[in-house]
Amino acid sequence: MDIKANLLAVKKSFQNPECKLIAVSKTKPIEALKEAYEAGIRDFGENKVQEIQWKQPEMPADTRWHMIGHLQSNKVKYIAPFVHLIHGVDSFKLLKEINKQGKKIDRAIPVLLQIHIAEEESKFGFDRAELTEMFADSEFLTLSHVQIKGLMGMATFTENQGQVRKEFRGLKQLFDDLKSQSLPPFVQLEEISMGMSGDYLIAQEEGSTMVRIGSAIFGAR
Ligand SMILES: *Cc1c(COP(=O)(O)O)cnc(C)c1O
Repeated sequence: MDIKANLLAVKKSFQNPECKLIAVSKTKPIEALKEAYEAGIRDFGENKVQEIQWKQPEMPADTRWHMIGHLQSNKVKYIAPFVHLIHGVDSFKLLKEINKQGKKIDRAIPVLLQIHIAEEESKFGFDRAELTEMFADSEFLTLSHVQIKGLMGMATFTENQGQVRKEFRGLKQLFDDLKSQSLPPFVQLEEISMGMSGDYLIAQEEGSTMVRIGSAIFGAR
């Protein structure tokens, strides 16, 4: 697997050269991450707390760790001190726990809210109504140790590119709608994390600012 060549090919294919690339290194050995680091990558995505925990001390200090998977509330404390961005915040309960852990260490932890855009039942995330409900909750306004930096979504796993495009477009629409509302100061919507190896080009066409790419860089898992 030529990680450097894959990275170059992926970067070259970008529809939007400004879009940030998160290299999804879950299940891959530390040598693979180091190879990507040497090729210039600083942003790495992992989906298991335990795996981030053992990989983090093995990598240079300027590595930025992105938690991209479903995160259990009881594990937030293990990554709170160093995680660069938590992409998959899919409930108010989890957001409150992140806030609590941030408070303990006096750090406002950067997060994205995961939005349910796929047809599949299994994908986690808020829907529009749940988001509105949370924003209207008086407890939401008291959050002091999270920074909500944007939204994240995963499209349906399908060959139907029209459907994938429609789902990404819906996420961008929601992002724009929210941006036009008045929101508390800890909500600064800047990022839309959407697009993986199979659909990042469509995602970029639909306004993604951050793509999470694993297999196209590191090979199949
Ligand atoms: C694994 C994973 C990715 C990367 O998937 P690839 O298809 O390998 O690019 C992106 N986002 C999330 C949330 C993932 O779990």
